[in-house]
Amino acid sequence: MKTYRSWQFDLSTIPERSRLYGLQPIGIGTVKVESLTSYLARLASAHCVHPSTLIHQEIEPLLEQRLDFAIRFKNPSVSGPDSPNGKGQKARKYVLALEALTGQSNLYCLTLLLLNGLHANRGLLNPVRAWCPLCYQQWQASGQPFYDPLLWMFRDVTVCQHHHSLLHTHCPQCQYSQRHLTRIYRPGYCSKCHQWLGTSIAPCDNGGIVMEPDVDWRVWVSTSLAAVLAVASQMPQQFGDPHVLGQTIAANMFCYLSELTPEQQAQFIARTRAHQKLLTGQCHPQKVPELTSLLTFSYFAGMSLLDLMTNH
Ligand SMILES: [Zn+2]
Ligand SMILES: [Zn+2]
Repeated sequence: MKTYRSWQFDLSTIPERSRLYGLQPIGIGTVKVESLTSYLARLASAHCVHPSTLIHQEIEPLLEQRLDFAIRFKNPSVSGPDSPNGKGQKARKYVLALEALTGQSNLYCLTLLLLNGLHANRGLLNPVRAWCPLCYQQWQASGQPFYDPLLWMFRDVTVCQHHHSLLHTHCPQCQYSQRHLTRIYRPGYCSKCHQWLGTSIAPCDNGGIVMEPDVDWRVWVSTSLAAVLAVASQMPQQFGDPHVLGQTIAANMFCYLSELTPEQQAQFIARTRAHQKLLTGQCHPQKVPELTSLLTFSYFAGMSLLDLMTNH
């Protein structure tokens, strides 16, 4: 009589299922990191619904439950524009809801919670949507998913760091500007007239290259912020804690200024409009300048923004 191998009835381990498709966010830990509104729109598209449907049917019911926001995010800022891409209440709630629905982690890296240590929320985000038509066109031509990077959300960013062309804020078809998250928002398309926003030649520039007199400054701002976004997720304590980040920035500013002669100090202060208190080393760590002033300081000091915001 032949003896057959016995059957195994042990159940194999099945990974935990998520309610929605576990869409991978684009570019966490790189200069290409996408924004949370872009992720939300791509997730809605993966389920063949508009963002408004996803929000009303899946996200809002979760927000009504008591998710423990306080444990995940210490020192939250509640001031300033309450955008899903910002660092206020709405961003924190949307991050936790989308993580619960998709099983993804670290979605806070798609928002300004990544830079929660920055002193002020006011003025960080552009109130209207901005985009690079050349990037959209390039991604479409190469078969890559098109999305809206977190970098384009900053008010201070006005040019694409890849193409050095001006970011657009008005649709060339209908001329409307638009908010970041609308009922039918979809990266790459106008939320008003639904037209494709990509183009191979930026119409308002010389071959797409910025001809503004302050082109160096504009490109430098985009490149500097991109470099910060690329490393911030690897240094959550440094960039996430207002006290730690503020202390570092204040110390680095004082260190730079203390090496200048009194005449040079006066010239630098006048040129950058930096606060006189920096000269005495008395700048309170939680009252360091806003982002625009940090950019100005590091630009004229010949120091990268990343160096200004980290210990070096
Ligand atoms: Zn571009
Ligand atoms: Zn339009």
